[in-house]
Amino acid sequence: MNPQTTLKKLNLDFTNKTPAATRRRRMVWTQRARHLSQAAFAAFILGSSVAHHLATDDGATASIDALCPFGGIETLQKWIVSGGQFIAKTHASNLILLFAVVVGTLIAGGAFCGWVCPFGATQDLLSAIRRRLKIPEIHVPEKLDRVLRYGRFVTLGLILFQTALTVKLWFADFDPYRTLFGLDWLYEFDWIVSWPAYVVTLGVLGATLFVERGFCRYACPLGGAISVLGRFSLLRIRRDGPSCKGCAVCEIPCPVKLHVATANVVSSNCIGCMACVDACPRHGSLELKLHPTWIDPILKIFKRPAKAQLPVSGK
Ligand code: SF4
Ligand code: SF4
Repeated sequence: MNPQTTLKKLNLDFTNKTPAATRRRRMVWTQRARHLSQAAFAAFILGSSVAHHLATDDGATASIDALCPFGGIETLQKWIVSGGQFIAKTHASNLILLFAVVVGTLIAGGAFCGWVCPFGATQDLLSAIRRRLKIPEIHVPEKLDRVLRYGRFVTLGLILFQTALTVKLWFADFDPYRTLFGLDWLYEFDWIVSWPAYVVTLGVLGATLFVERGFCRYACPLGGAISVLGRFSLLRIRRDGPSCKGCAVCEIPCPVKLHVATANVVSSNCIGCMACVDACPRHGSLELKLHPTWIDPILKIFKRPAKAQLPVSGK
């Protein structure tokens, strides 16, 4: 095939130098890199699950429970209180992964959700299928959306409470991520024992087909914890008010439906997909900056005296 035709098919016509075409190319490449990263992590988790199920020796390969940073949150309390013990099915690997996610979040906010989490990738895949099949998306009304987002903290609180009470991975029996990627449904299908997990997973996947990133926005306990910690992250997407023309083009591709066009600093619910930055038609209006929000009050303190000195120098 003619290379030019191939590039046009890929929406990557390099001869077109208009700003819109440049933006389009940038967006395509960023999203490709993101999807590649998501696919690599999902493949690793699926590969580990298959190896775990096929292993003949017990404990020879890590189960999916040992590869989950949220398991680190669940086992942390027992580990601290008991001086180094873990709740069943968790290991030091959970705490190491939790530490990595905490550090990553303090640097890059919710990028774990946009670039790493296999269940986030599954939801992106479902949205892509919905778009391909031209199934209309369900837009959750603004007020309801704001309330439902607290659901993540309700789930988080409930899980921590129940885990402390039962001293086991209480959420594992319902967790749609574990159900899907753990592959028990493939190797050890058991409707009698595992029906709650199957029902929850099918319900979540069905709902996410219509509501983009529905589980991330309204129910994921790890997403809730990441969003709280993400408030302190070093990298934040910032909008430059004076140069922004308020067209809201940046809000169209946002998978988690954030109000980018009216925020000075994009919410910590952002998953760092960068689609809004690439979509913005005004160069420099929306940028990922090494500029945490906690530094703003400090900068203000240093700016004040300079302003106060202005009349003095004007004399
Ligand atoms: S919010 Fe939860 S499910 Fe969604 S991407 Fe983040 S960790 Fe994964
Ligand atoms: S605010 Fe921007 S970077 Fe964050 S999730 Fe939405 S589109 Fe992606």
